[in-house]
Amino acid sequence: MSSAIDITGLHKRYGHRTAVHDLDLHVRPGTIYGLIGPNGAGKTTTLRTLVDIIRPTSGQVRVLGEDPRHGGARLRRRIGFVPGELRLEGRVTGHRMLSFYSETSGPVSRAYTAELAERLGVDLSRPVRSLSKGNKQKIGLIQAFMHRPELLILDEPTSGLDPLVQREFLTMVREAREAGQTVLLSSHVLSEIQQTADEVAVLAAGRIVAQGDVASLRLGSVRRVRVALDAQDPDALHRRFTGIPGVTELEVAAHGEALHLTATVEGGIDPFVKALAQETVRDLTIEEPDLEESVLRLYGPAARTEGGAR
Ligand code: ATP
Repeated sequence: MSSAIDITGLHKRYGHRTAVHDLDLHVRPGTIYGLIGPNGAGKTTTLRTLVDIIRPTSGQVRVLGEDPRHGGARLRRRIGFVPGELRLEGRVTGHRMLSFYSETSGPVSRAYTAELAERLGVDLSRPVRSLSKGNKQKIGLIQAFMHRPELLILDEPTSGLDPLVQREFLTMVREAREAGQTVLLSSHVLSEIQQTADEVAVLAAGRIVAQGDVASLRLGSVRRVRVALDAQDPDALHRRFTGIPGVTELEVAAHGEALHLTATVEGGIDPFVKALAQETVRDLTIEEPDLEESVLRLYGPAARTEGGAR
């Protein structure tokens, strides 16, 4: 098998709205592939065609060498799937629900399930409907991983998880790759894709606007920076940072004793840091780039989702 997932010319329309346009995507076995894009970009639609929840309007989809429409239970056993919106309302406990899932997913080691629950920090003896959103999400993750499937298809898997659990989960994803499993992961959070994925596709308005390894996409290159400085003269500070390569949206305001500088820095951060080093810095925050903003800056207004996907 050359690819774990082969999508060719995938097109999906909902009435007049086209959610996905002529999409090609190929995932090599044993790799982590990240699908990122702003809300409404078409990530969920794409992933659902892979597990036959949604059928393409046109185009071809192959998962582990098979057409999901005809793969049936045999193919499903080879896949672990986390849906974007997970609803768990049963009175049954987490244990009971997972053993119910294992009837369709194939043999599951109870010890491994317990280990996953321990790592993610969820109590499987509680009725699932009494769990918080994040803890329900953990049950969803366990059911995807517990039968050690060849392929994991994870739609926004970290949604609702707190940062420590997110980190543990991303470790589980990397371990899956080390064990030879293939992972296709969607997210609108850049950092989790940067930390895990070997290859990435950026989806915007139903189209792939960029594809490649994480570094080459330069998506992390737009940062919002906030600095509090011991300085007296706002105009002099403004002048010092004006014209530094990549610095835009520069603002300086006085706050009590300090001056607050905010700016957007695109590309290398070094010239900005060098200029900053000449000041007395009280506080510094560099925010994770906003994915939607980065996509728009790098790939233009055609990448805008609302109204773009027609
Ligand atoms: P998010 O990050 O918000 O989950 P997404 O990238 O997963 O977004 P999709 O849920 O695939 O995006 O939606 C893509 C487009 O298709 C959106 O414009 C959405 O409004 C539209 N869409 C999705 N499902 C349906 C549906 N059942 N009927 C009509 N339009 C739909």
